[in-house]
Amino acid sequence: MRQITHWIDNKPFDGPIARWGDVYDPATGLIQAQVALASVDHVDAAVASAMAAWETWKDASLSRRTAILFEFRDLVVRHKEDIARLLVSEHGKVLSDALGEVQRGLEVVEFACGIPQLLKGEFNENVSTAVDTYSIRQPVGVVAGITPFNFPAMVPMWMYPIAIACGNTFILKPSEKDPSASNLCAELFAEAGLPDGVLNVVHGDKVAVDRILEHPDIGAVSFVGSTPIARHVYEGGTAAGKRVAALGGAKNHMVVLPDADMDLAADAAVSAAYGSAGERCMAIAVLVTVGDAADRLMPKVVDRLEKVKVAPGLEDGAEMGPLVTAQHRDRVVGYIDQGVAEGATLVADGRALTAEQDGFFVGPTLFDNVTPEMSIYRDEIFGPVLSTVRVDTYEQAMSLITDNPYANGVAIFTNDGGAARKFQNEVPVGMVGVNVPIPVPMAYHSFGGWKNSLFGDARMYGMEGVNFYTRMKVITARWPDPEHRGVNLGFPQMS
Ligand code: NAD
Repeated sequence: MRQITHWIDNKPFDGPIARWGDVYDPATGLIQAQVALASVDHVDAAVASAMAAWETWKDASLSRRTAILFEFRDLVVRHKEDIARLLVSEHGKVLSDALGEVQRGLEVVEFACGIPQLLKGEFNENVSTAVDTYSIRQPVGVVAGITPFNFPAMVPMWMYPIAIACGNTFILKPSEKDPSASNLCAELFAEAGLPDGVLNVVHGDKVAVDRILEHPDIGAVSFVGSTPIARHVYEGGTAAGKRVAALGGAKNHMVVLPDADMDLAADAAVSAAYGSAGERCMAIAVLVTVGDAADRLMPKVVDRLEKVKVAPGLEDGAEMGPLVTAQHRDRVVGYIDQGVAEGATLVADGRALTAEQDGFFVGPTLFDNVTPEMSIYRDEIFGPVLSTVRVDTYEQAMSLITDNPYANGVAIFTNDGGAARKFQNEVPVGMVGVNVPIPVPMAYHSFGGWKNSLFGDARMYGMEGVNFYTRMKVITARWPDPEHRGVNLGFPQMS
């Protein structure tokens, strides 16, 4: 059986490994590899390597850093399909979607290539006569990233290219469910010329995460995953004195007003609910139809949904693959059972497919007449299940969203510019789409939700990423001046 081990000091870890986890092929349901589950000692070895590397990497010139980043970018482009195929094989998403994931990660690498421009500080001459003040951004040191299963290449790339470009060294703890893409990307970075220890990959579970949170030599932790673990990481990391950015789960609403283009809205709802089998933190999970919108929208949604081709990710024309594990599939099926039991109208039932296949498949599932107290509305299902809530007014749609504990993404579909503007102004959600169902910001903006979808105050990538991975230092300097005026015990007033 293939074994996937840690990547420390630019090579596979060859020390003893006591615990291993199973990695499945979700399309067949079979175990395809085993992944190392780190002990405290393994994490400590990775941190020691990163600490040693930081001594020189922090002083690497901006030109050297960018030259390596440009080379890494080219290698990722050349190996895009290899990375995507690993994602298909371990996560289950279809190839076209996996290629899109790598592309969105690459955009962050390209953003990081501009680091000399992004790290420019500020300068004021003569804050007092002959005294200058300037600010510089310095790396934090050794920083860590803990990432979820659903974007095994892209979410780590939200973190390590920027952290490394800023002069930090990085410990990546990817999801143990689909670990291989992280090792391949680390190998490519090494091939691009990244010195030993600047990027280490440690595989594992809670043991690795908790050691990262308490390790005294790690200065900052970025986390993306479910809300309970995001809270745990935020509380544990900040209690240990670290800088923490922790992004959590989601339950994203798409509001359709009666004046919307219903074909556009139906295309968007089906794409955003069932793409990647709903395993996206920006997936649309709730369709909120206002007034008579549902009567015109629902037949169009059903028509499109019936044509979605569910198949293993490498099969020709496959649009939606399996879920990541049998356990997750059973959880999603459990929610469909609960929705039926709670009285929602099951318009399309994906459970039939589950019985037919050895892989972890659930077909596109659509509920109508869902109410806010039902578990299919309240909980993040993270599968191909779309719940429709019918409301009479815009205000009712808004209070539904306002009362929801999650606030990652939201979308409105309308042809009324005034309504859209009012919505974007008052909706308490971090990322808003206007006639765009999955409003994931580009690499030069920043990504993050509000409320239970983000703990802390730092978002991922963009300038917020640069700020998170650097500490500002402000210097006030006076060079010897023949005219200095001697001792003054008063507070400096810069006159
Ligand atoms: P998860 O929270 O189970 O796992 C995320 C990471 O935490 C993994 O590396 C995992 O090994 C680790 N982990 C799991 N249990 C742990 C524990 N008890 N203690 C310490 N560490 C633990 O999330 P997942 O199932 O891998 O990913 C899906 C979740 O991630 C969904 O909730 C989704 O909404 C969320 N997500 C959010 C965003 C965002 O940007 N807000 C993006 C992608 C995914």
